[in-house]
Amino acid sequence: MSANKAIKLAVIGRGMIGSAAARHLSKMGHDVALIGPDEPADFSRHNGVFGSHYDEGRITRRFDPEPFWVQMNCAAISRYDEISAESGVQFYREVGVLHVGRSENQNVTSVGKITAEAGILCEVYNDTGLAERFPFLRSTAGMQGYFEPRNAGYISPRRLVRAQTIAAKRAGARIIDEPALGFRKAALV
Ligand SMILES: Cc1cc2nc3c(=O)[nH]c(=O)nc-3n(C[C@H](O)[C@H](O)[C@H](O)COP(=O)(O)OP(=O)(O)OC[C@H]3O[C@@H](n4cnc5c(N)ncnc54)[C@H](O)[C@@H]3O)c2cc1C
Repeated sequence: MSANKAIKLAVIGRGMIGSAAARHLSKMGHDVALIGPDEPADFSRHNGVFGSHYDEGRITRRFDPEPFWVQMNCAAISRYDEISAESGVQFYREVGVLHVGRSENQNVTSVGKITAEAGILCEVYNDTGLAERFPFLRSTAGMQGYFEPRNAGYISPRRLVRAQTIAAKRAGARIIDEPALGFRKAALV
């Protein structure tokens, strides 16, 4: 996009979604301000806005019962390396994801069918197989498991937000480390 087509944009909220939006918009050549405070230093004394990413674990995997979300999951996971490279921040561990439950539960058995149809690599385990492969599971009697070994695991949402913010800044976004208090119409200058 040429510079004269750049739009001035404010993204309010520097969480999982806002930081990603700012990175994409900046890379498209827009003039972006990403507005939102950092994680509070002391939760117990904090009276301001909160986010839902102040921790170290979000499950990430390609499987989902809805085809739309399989597509979204695949697209998101395929960008993790790019975001890490652009920011220098590691946030993803590909340790795999295990879907497990009673073998007669259709939500469990449907994982095998859906992953096969979507071409998602998935290891299938019955109860004894589960006990051998995952010895830390307390009880596997009557259980069935599906393990996604690749493109699955967990991310640190806190580190992902940091990575997206750094990448957005490197792509030209301005980071405003404050909460937005309101909107006001103003003449464009
Ligand atoms: C306990 C828990 C477990 C979860 N587990 C998973 C999981 O395993 N896998 C998964 O995919 N999803 C999981 N989720 C969901 C995922 O974390 C959320 O969908 C995601 O964080 C939403 O992103 P967001 O950017 O919309 O919101 P947030 O990440 O909450 O970001 C909102 C941001 O807006 C800022 N803000 C608020 N008000 C203002 C203001 N006035 N001005 C400026 N900034 C403001 C906040 O400070 C915050 O930074 C989980 C959520 C929770 C709470």
